[in-house]
Formats: sequence, C-alpha cells, structure tokens
Amino acid sequence: MKQNYDALIIGAGFAGAVCARELAERGGKRVLVLERRDHVGGNAYDRLDKAGILIHQYGPHIFHTNDQRVYEYLSRFTRWLNYQHRVVANIPGEGAQAGQRVQMPVPFNLTSLETAYGPEKGKALGDKLISIYGAEKKVTILELRQNDDPEIRQVADYVYEHVFVHYTMKQWGQTPEQIDPNTTARVPVFLSRDDRYFQDTWQGMPLDGYTPIFERMLDHPNITVVTGVDARDRLSLTDGQIRLDGKLFVGPVVYTGAVDELFVFRYGRLPYRSLDFKFETHNTEFFQTHGTVNYTVDEDYTRITEFKHMTGQEKKDCTTIVKEYSFAYTGAAGETPYYAIINSENNALYQQYKALSDGYDNLYLLGRLAEYKYYNMDAIVAQALALADRLV
Ligand code: FAD
Ligand code: UDP
Repeated sequence: MKQNYDALIIGAGFAGAVCARELAERGGKRVLVLERRDHVGGNAYDRLDKAGILIHQYGPHIFHTNDQRVYEYLSRFTRWLNYQHRVVANIPGEGAQAGQRVQMPVPFNLTSLETAYGPEKGKALGDKLISIYGAEKKVTILELRQNDDPEIRQVADYVYEHVFVHYTMKQWGQTPEQIDPNTTARVPVFLSRDDRYFQDTWQGMPLDGYTPIFERMLDHPNITVVTGVDARDRLSLTDGQIRLDGKLFVGPVVYTGAVDELFVFRYGRLPYRSLDFKFETHNTEFFQTHGTVNYTVDEDYTRITEFKHMTGQEKKDCTTIVKEYSFAYTGAAGETPYYAIINSENNALYQQYKALSDGYDNLYLLGRLAEYKYYNMDAIVAQALALADRLV
C-alpha cells in the first residue's frame, strides 16, 4: 500500500482526536487515525439507547475545567448546556433515622455535617472546622484524620466511615490509606455550602452530546479515520523503527492506548481497575433526585447515574440509569482498562515501558492509558494541545 500519511494517531478519544485535528489543521499534515472500537470518542462516547435516552456507554462524563485554552478550544466544536454536577451519598439512616435512607451532599460539606449531626451540633462542628481550617477551604480526608482534637477526630471518623472507606474498597479493592492520596483528594471535605461536585470556572455538558464533538473535530480534509481496527495488527516496532503495513513510517506516531499492550507485555501487565456498567431503563420520568447518587456504605455498586439529569433531555415516559461495579482488570476479552492504579511499584513498571518507547524517536505516548495517569478530559485536551504545539 502506498504511504500517504505524514502522521499516525492510534485511538480516537480526546487525546487522539485533538492531536489529529491540530496536526491536520495547524500542521498541514495528512493524518491517519486508527481506532479499535467501532466508533470515535474513546471513553467519552455517548449514544441514544433503545428507549431513545442519551447515555454515556463508558460511564458518566461531566466536563469541567479551569483551563481557558481547553474551554475555548472545545467550544469550537460544541455549544454547552449549563449543568452543575451535584452528587449525594445515599446511606442507611442511624438512630432516629434507622430503617430509612439518608442523602447528604458529596463532597461532604457544611450541609452534610448538619444532616449527619442535626442542625445545632452540625453548625457548631462546622464553625469549629472553619476556625481551624478556614471558611470555603477544602481538606482531604487523610489530612482531617491527622487532627488530634477529639471532636474533629469524631467528624473525621464519621466521614471516613460513611463516605470514603467502603466506597474506596468497592472502587479500588483497597482502603483510602493504601491508594494514591491524590485520588481521595479529588473529593475533599469542603467547608462550604457550595454543594457542587466541581468548583471549576467552566463546567457543563456538550449541547448535542460528546460524540458530535469528535465527529466535528475529525471532519477535516487532511484526516482519515479508520474504526474497527487494532493498530497493533498493522504496526510493528523493532530496533527503533516503526513500520505501518510493513513500510517504514518516519512521521510522528501518537499512541493513546495502553503502553504494556504496545510492547506485548514484555515486562508484565500494568495493573488497572475496570468497570462493569449495568444500564436499566425505568418507566418513570425520574429515578433519583440527582445526576449521580453514590452508595458509600452498602450495595455492591459504587454509584448510580441518571443521564437525563445531566443531559437535560426531556422525556416523560422513561429514564435510563447506570450502576457501576468495579473489578480488577485481567485483560480478558471484552474488559476495558479504565483506571491506572497509581503507586510506586506500578509507576516503576510504567517507567520501564516509557524507557522502551523512548527508543523510538517518532513515537509519542499521549493520554490516560498511554501515560498511565488519572487524567480528566480537560487535562487530556491540554496535553494533546501541548504535544501538537511541539509537533507542528
Ligand atoms: P480514551 O478515551 O480511553 O481513548 C483511547 C482510545 O484508544 C480508545 O477509544 C481505544 O479504543 C483506542 N485504542 C487503544 N488501543 C488501541 C489500539 N491498539 N488500536 C486502535 N485503537 C486503540 N473525565 C472528566 O473530565 N469528567 C468526567 O466526568 C469523567 N468521568 C469518567 C468516568 C469514568 C467511568 C471514566 C473511566 C473516566 C472518566 N473521565 C472523566 C476521564 C475521561 O474518560 C478521560 O480523561 C478521557 O476519556 C481520556 O481520553 P484518552 O483519549 O486519553 O483515552
Ligand atoms: N470517593 C469516595 N466516596 C465518594 C466519592 C469518592 O470514597 O463518595 C473516593 C474514591 O476513592 C474515589 C475517589 O474518591 O475513587 C475519587 O472520586 P471521583 O468521584 O473523582 O472518581 P471518578 O469519577 O474519577 O471515578
């Protein structure tokens, strides 16, 4: 086959799509994008289900960023629905509330305190926390547990038990102390009445959904997208040289898949957590009160998301929800590696693969899988723009 391409991109998620667009548009390069799935969009892919509800096939995605460049860049490809994500923990009631379910905001905040301890005691505890840490401050659960004051310690234990330990065990199979502290720090105790999940300057949902963003981004005369193809079937990497369909490829090769797969698990598998998504359609207008309800104490799933709250879709007769069940990724057919398990051992293994990739001058690892990081969408877009800045 004649080689017509100046750049090769593997994966059509945010990393691959943004990079492809930039190389094609700003760099004037002819770009080939190879995507294993039968659709573009990576894990942000959304579609209508059988009931006509817009669902996120690979889990709920809410856009939020403080990065103006990222926001403005994506705004070229979509308009936004103003959506502020709010999450509650749903827990079994105790004491006078035994036998009932209680909901309180997550991140755990001043309102959650009053729900847990009653208005008076909750207010007093909130005032005390504010006198120590400051109003509107965010304190991680691990930090809060360091405090020696008996009352603060009591609050820390309450939050640990009712918000973090069981959810984290379900999600990671490990306690909050055993996982990367940056992970639980994503959801700190917030000494505020602000009950939004994110405080970022720009947040919302793409007005027509995520998939159209990718379709528009990849719709460029210099871009060819081929879906349903595993790039590893067309690529070979040997002795610092990359071949596509047997021919030497000297242009940039941006790889956004899992790096251990690329090098055929030479040093063993990089560990990941996977998720099983169970979708249910119910014949009611709404199933729950919030976009996402976290089951932080009981149930086998971590959370239930109801898409209509997030997408603003109006449909009176039915609604679709998704329950997330986490498990250890084994690499078996049909499993997806969703979350890198960040710790020093796994990072060291990743660095071995990274060193291998550094032996290929035209190979670039980009994205949540290829960089083995816990990146949100906006961070990936920023990384992709930065790589494109270097390559054009
Ligand atoms: P991906 O989206 O994973 O794209 C990589 C693509 O490469 C995939 O389509 C894959 O099929 C393809 N690929 C891999 N290997 C090959 C190969 N050999 N050949 C061809 N193609 C290949 N972020 C937020 O900002 N807000 C959220 O609310 C949010 N919620 C999330 C919820 C869940 C459950 C998960 C798992 C993630 C969430 N994220 C969220 C993170 C977000 O999904 C990622 O930041 C983003 O999708 C990463 O983009 P990416 O291009 O790096 O990777
Ligand atoms: N977490 C928790 N309870 C919650 C919410 C979050 O224990 O109610 C912890 C858990 O360890 C989780 C991490 O905080 O993996 C990050 O949560 P986030 O909602 O950011 O996870 P994501 O949406 O990326 O899955």
